[in-house]
Amino acid sequence: MSSYWGADIGGTSTKLGRIDGREFEMVAVLPTPADSPPRALLQRLTEEILDYDSHPEGLGVGVAGLVEIERGLLLTSPNMPAWVNVPVRETLRSLLSCPIVVHNDANTFAYGAVARKEIPSEGVWLLITLGTGIGGTIVHDGRIIFGKGFAGEFGHMSVKAHGLPCPCGSKGCWERYASKDAIISYYREISGTDDQPDPREIADRARRGEQPAIEAFDRLGYWIGVGLANLGWCFSPHGFVLAGGLAPNLDLFESSCRETYRQRCPLDLDISRLKLASDAGALGAALLVRDEDQ
Ligand SMILES: [Zn+2]
Repeated sequence: MSSYWGADIGGTSTKLGRIDGREFEMVAVLPTPADSPPRALLQRLTEEILDYDSHPEGLGVGVAGLVEIERGLLLTSPNMPAWVNVPVRETLRSLLSCPIVVHNDANTFAYGAVARKEIPSEGVWLLITLGTGIGGTIVHDGRIIFGKGFAGEFGHMSVKAHGLPCPCGSKGCWERYASKDAIISYYREISGTDDQPDPREIADRARRGEQPAIEAFDRLGYWIGVGLANLGWCFSPHGFVLAGGLAPNLDLFESSCRETYRQRCPLDLDISRLKLASDAGALGAALLVRDEDQ
């Protein structure tokens, strides 16, 4: 039986699933080899699909990086250095004869979250992914706002006009102050050690009552609050939904984040955390191509 397929290409693994009738099922998890050419992975992906389904109805792909949607072109990827200017859709089209859409992985993830009812399908909701960088998606009445293609890249909103340089070419980008590297540098600065604990370890130390770790999360919360206040003014959203590696530490940074927001923006602040299964990106990718095709 033919199906709509969804692939979620991440820095370490690529998840592949399909919608068969009304049900979504995961089919395979492939490694994403950091050093091999992108074409090899895309070829492997299509072989896997064709093994199950000789006439797929469509393939949606979410990939970690800046994606030009119209052409299905991946410009750069923070976690996959070999993936620069990769014509993902054109390559897949040469291997599969079905509709193919390519999106940023935060957007496919958000679309999966709406389908799973973790993001409400009414109102304006901003999904903020706090991890190595900061990703984002604008969801309006269950649909994603793409703008000309790159809407939601909140991590590169400048929060300090002459701040730290960012690989994107700008200065003072939000993600330089409210990401995994930021919490590590705050901890090192406050504790005065050369210790290099990862954010999870810093969180454990904060929960055990270690003062420098608590203060590092307070400072992180301040910067998250600065960014959320800017977004509050811009979108007046019904709520912010946090995801990514730092989101489970919301309890550690929520009070300083709320305090900062309150000082800068009088609008309501609704923050929640996404608790999705890891297949949401592949599900969202399959739904995006299905909904575009129908
Ligand atoms: Zn930037």
